[in-house]
Amino acid sequence: MNYLLKNGQILLSGELRIRDLLIVAGRIAAIGKNLVASGVKTVDLQHAFITPGLVDLHVHLRDPGMTAEETIATGSLAAAHGGFTFVGAMPNVLPVPDNAEKLSQLIQRQQAEGVVHIGQYATITQKRTSQYLVDFAQLKQAGALAFSNDGSGVQSARTMLQAMQAAQTVNLPIAAHVEAEELVQGGVINAGVTAKTLNLPGIPETAETAQLARDLVLAQATGVHYHMCHVSTAAAVQMIRCAKQVGVNVTCEVTPHHLLLSEQAICNDDGNFKMNPPLRTEHDRQALLQGLLDGTIDCIATDHAPHTIEEKQLGLKKAAFGIVGSETAFSLLYTHLVKTNFCTLAQLIEWLNQQPIKIFSLGLPTELAVGAPADLAIFDLTHPFKINAADFCSKSANTPFLGEKVYGKTLCTIVAGKIVYLADELKAAITDE
Ligand SMILES: [Zn+2]
Repeated sequence: MNYLLKNGQILLSGELRIRDLLIVAGRIAAIGKNLVASGVKTVDLQHAFITPGLVDLHVHLRDPGMTAEETIATGSLAAAHGGFTFVGAMPNVLPVPDNAEKLSQLIQRQQAEGVVHIGQYATITQKRTSQYLVDFAQLKQAGALAFSNDGSGVQSARTMLQAMQAAQTVNLPIAAHVEAEELVQGGVINAGVTAKTLNLPGIPETAETAQLARDLVLAQATGVHYHMCHVSTAAAVQMIRCAKQVGVNVTCEVTPHHLLLSEQAICNDDGNFKMNPPLRTEHDRQALLQGLLDGTIDCIATDHAPHTIEEKQLGLKKAAFGIVGSETAFSLLYTHLVKTNFCTLAQLIEWLNQQPIKIFSLGLPTELAVGAPADLAIFDLTHPFKINAADFCSKSANTPFLGEKVYGKTLCTIVAGKIVYLADELKAAITDE
């Protein structure tokens, strides 16, 4: 199917300009004013915003193994509903993709069942928990996006050093969930004022920073591309800033929830405020925002972590860690960062498209250009709406942002010229020419 998108707004040199966009055979065939075409479906976008598809380096699709929480089909549809056309899927599924055969089978299923592009992380160690490294060369050959033990940190320095040497040899990143387990000691939220008030065990910032310090030293020694997942503390931002200054090949991501919430948001014993790493202090949150602005933090990734109602209704002490994020990321960030003038729309799109594509060398489209694959998302920036669990495509709705009024509703997401998500509002606007 070919489409003529009329009267969209696109970013040109940082400014929104009204343009039409013609999609033919999966690619952008023309961009201009007053375009006409025959034999296409025409959509009047009424000044909705068109952007290259968003890219999320960190999601949990839970499939295979935990399909009550999410599946490849529902997780990729949730991504499409959020305007994402690519997601990087973490390997904490069962069985874990720790050899070429298991990784190949998983990638085949994702290509058959997913509606967006999916990159699959391989684990760093066998079974994701042992001291024994995977075969990095075979896993690269089988299509690994990068290597990660996300969900857990690599506890042994020797194992991490050898993993970095192996990843460097095959020229793929290590994406590290940074957490020294012996410092966590059963903590469930940040070790701070809220943990004291609610009488809950706390997770100290040193659980993040102690292991990060080790990893930055090892990354410098090996030259590997070391990517830190979900940075959460001011101290970690400063360590990464210093490491970049002395030439360590380090990048990092931050989640929307760490940018928008601090531990002060936890007002009752609600498991939807429980994630790993935890919401930190307001001082940490401000440092994350500053780190984004000055380029210390490279991109935003959701850490979309679906869990069933049963797993989340147990209160902060017993609930599972993690919240969903694919379907709320853009609207929350647009509402709280762009509409408040913290950053521009162009900067937000850099953190959600150009930057993740660049740091992971994904080769996906970073601009709307004639000839480029038609991977794009369309957002209504004008009308407010409420975040509502009933609108989610995910199997899960574990997020503290339910009920919030936001802007930036996804109207349509297109992957390789095919509509993979279409909001009801836009269905009526499609006509045959
Ligand atoms: Zn993690």
